[in-house]
Amino acid sequence: MANKERTPVVIIGAGVAGLALATLLSTAGVASIVLERRDRAFVETRQRAGVVDARNVRMFERWGLADRLLAGAVAQTIDYRTDGMSRVFEITGDSESEGRFCTQQMLVSNLLRVFIDEMNGDVRFNVADVTIRNEPGVCPQVGYTDADRMIEIACDYIVGCDADRGVSRASIPDGVLTTVTHEYGYAWLAALVEAPLKDHPIMGVSKHGFVAQLPRGPHRSRYYLQCELKDRAGDWSDERIWDEIRLRMHDESIENAVVHSKEFVPLRSVVHSPMQYGRLFLAGDAAHLVPPTGAKGMNLALFDVDVLAGALVNALVDGDDVPLASYSNTVLPHIWRYQAFSAWMTDTMHDAGDPTLHGSFRQMTARARLDQLFRSAAARRLHSDYQRGMA
Ligand SMILES: Cc1cc2nc3c(=O)[nH]c(=O)nc-3n(C[C@H](O)[C@H](O)[C@H](O)COP(=O)(O)OP(=O)(O)OC[C@H]3O[C@@H](n4cnc5c(N)ncnc54)[C@H](O)[C@@H]3O)c2cc1C
Repeated sequence: MANKERTPVVIIGAGVAGLALATLLSTAGVASIVLERRDRAFVETRQRAGVVDARNVRMFERWGLADRLLAGAVAQTIDYRTDGMSRVFEITGDSESEGRFCTQQMLVSNLLRVFIDEMNGDVRFNVADVTIRNEPGVCPQVGYTDADRMIEIACDYIVGCDADRGVSRASIPDGVLTTVTHEYGYAWLAALVEAPLKDHPIMGVSKHGFVAQLPRGPHRSRYYLQCELKDRAGDWSDERIWDEIRLRMHDESIENAVVHSKEFVPLRSVVHSPMQYGRLFLAGDAAHLVPPTGAKGMNLALFDVDVLAGALVNALVDGDDVPLASYSNTVLPHIWRYQAFSAWMTDTMHDAGDPTLHGSFRQMTARARLDQLFRSAAARRLHSDYQRGMA
């Protein structure tokens, strides 16, 4: 016999999307239960994004949460380094809100602290066998097993925040969703190292392949190196990583440091639509993936849950379910704008480097696009708007 419970909203996945949604809902007095298949330590230490963009800083300010969740303002600069030549791009804007430096695991840790410890929120870790009932005309229900107990939670709404390989999107019948995918044909090796950024974040174009260095706290940074889709850890010794960094940065003075982790990320763009079916809604990586070049995946997840939290509050507190019915149509134009930006960044930064990738014509036109950022006020303004999440 299963234990039976009830709550207004069940959220599947305690990543940045699921935890932010639960915290926003709790701020508005709406209860939820978050189900997570991993343990808390794993969720809190998963390394990924580094910056909450200005749009999402404003969003957390609007919900009264910014000071409890986010760290200090970030340098609004990027060194677009081409064959070793630095050109520092200044991100400009007229907003009072700036992007805040906050690694994804720092944000997740803070969300867990605020939601569980301060708001008495309900996150259940180590759950298994999550099932979803979402047929028309029946009460939505989520089931799971926890050790040897079976639990069934009846609810008004289910939100799938369980990323690309979760159960939520998979529970939607065939033929309902349209999936648009683009593969870029290469991958990144992401290496977290014990060496801080010296100056500005770097996006490096080189004929030997793309390289980037982004901040990850006072003592660490993350390097990204373009590599082949088939590459594995065995192909990239620490020595090779540092040799390639020096080569692609055109900087022999860079010294080896401890490499804490290596991860391979195939670059691809995916959008599933609509982002809802019956009483199930999708948010974050469960609905869309962007290549990390534009640094927008976490920021798009936060955008989704801002819109979704408002719509759920409208439905559950005010009895108005119109915003919920149009959730997908509301967020998708924004998702596509940032897919376009992420594709622009990805193509430009990689094509401008190695001419054997897509040929000399694509190399030179990509370089011309980069130059334009330093020549045209209009191009600078648009690029800044995208970087800040305000486009
Ligand atoms: C190397 C790398 C660098 C990145 N850099 C940036 C960046 O600089 N800026 C940026 O904005 N974004 C960046 N991203 C993207 C960003 O990390 C993701 O877009 C973000 O994690 C999406 O959040 P999410 O909550 O949707 O998914 P996730 O953070 O993946 O969370 C999903 C959660 O669901 C859980 N789950 C899955 N299946 C189940 C199940 N069946 N039952 C219960 N729980 C389940 C998972 O364990 C996980 O905790 C980067 C990504 C990578 C890989």
